[in-house]
Amino acid sequence: MTRKTLAAVLRADGTTPLETIELPERQPGDLLVRLRACGVCTGEAMRWYTAGKTSAILGHEVVAEVLEGGEGTAFKPGDRIFPHHHAPCGECEACRGGHESSCDAWKKSRLVPGGYAREFIVPAWNARRDTRLIPPALSDDAAIFIEPVACVVRALHKASGTLPSPTAPSMEVPAGGRGFQRIAILGLGFMAQLCARLFKERFPGARIAATELIPERREQGRALGLHAILDASLPDLPSALARELGGEPELVVVCPSSARAVAQGLSLAAPGGRVVLFAPPAPKDPVAVDFNRLYFRETSIVSAFSCGPADVLESLLWCQRLASDFEGMISHRWPLDRVGEALSAIAAQDPGVLKVVVRTPPGLPLAESQGEE
Ligand SMILES: [Zn+2]
Ligand SMILES: [Zn+2]
Repeated sequence: MTRKTLAAVLRADGTTPLETIELPERQPGDLLVRLRACGVCTGEAMRWYTAGKTSAILGHEVVAEVLEGGEGTAFKPGDRIFPHHHAPCGECEACRGGHESSCDAWKKSRLVPGGYAREFIVPAWNARRDTRLIPPALSDDAAIFIEPVACVVRALHKASGTLPSPTAPSMEVPAGGRGFQRIAILGLGFMAQLCARLFKERFPGARIAATELIPERREQGRALGLHAILDASLPDLPSALARELGGEPELVVVCPSSARAVAQGLSLAAPGGRVVLFAPPAPKDPVAVDFNRLYFRETSIVSAFSCGPADVLESLLWCQRLASDFEGMISHRWPLDRVGEALSAIAAQDPGVLKVVVRTPPGLPLAESQGEE
């Protein structure tokens, strides 16, 4: 039985009109779900990233309700779930090393057609390997944070040189993990603000400063209660930062998708410091880095790309602890067809658009069987 649904399809002009599309036939174990809410991801607004994805249906920060299926999985109709858009095999070398986002199976698995659809299919693979029931205490608004927060969880572990537990999640630094007294976060966009909140909780003794180019965002960042917020374009930024932190940062988290920010982050780290790349610069974005200096200061660079099942498990704890903070970060609640508008505002770095949640407009009928149109 084929079914039709409505989805926000990304057009070349950046708009996302709702279009009727056909869902593939549901296989045993697959879940047919209805979207309750989806966060618009800042990563989807990187134009070089979505350039090849015209006509795509994006959306992965989803909260959904099971309508049908789930044979042989832990889920049944009526369940409110977070289905991860990518699910790893758990057995390959990448998975065993905690690099699930490099697992071939992770890359191939996906929601069909994507999260920006009124209904979509969660393949049995994703349902079995990285789908979670949403705790009842978590609102839909707070639950759209499960995926982005899981990405920050990965960054927390990369910073400390640890792995999240696949069975017993904890918000503490795992035994043997590195701690920090002085942390710099570059950027104060949505993901950077999320990083600021979690790094502050994870390393409660640390002094944390953020740097940002846009004045309105610096103003917005005050609510985070950091030790300092500095203009990223200050000519004497390294010394200003060291003054605020009581020394050069041992940990620098680079959030903007820009090679310039990466170079700046590398130049700021203390000897023996660690630099976490939280977002990718555009491909072939050239940047001059003084490797001589990095060598003699023994600077290390780690990157945190997306998240895996253990990150999601730990994210559920963070989302419950910080639910009301997260809900307060949502700046707009829009209908599904305004995804494109949200992406344009994020790409333009509109400081008024911090986090957009889209929902299916009320009153639209449920998925219909073939022939009923
Ligand atoms: Zn995302
Ligand atoms: Zn794998």
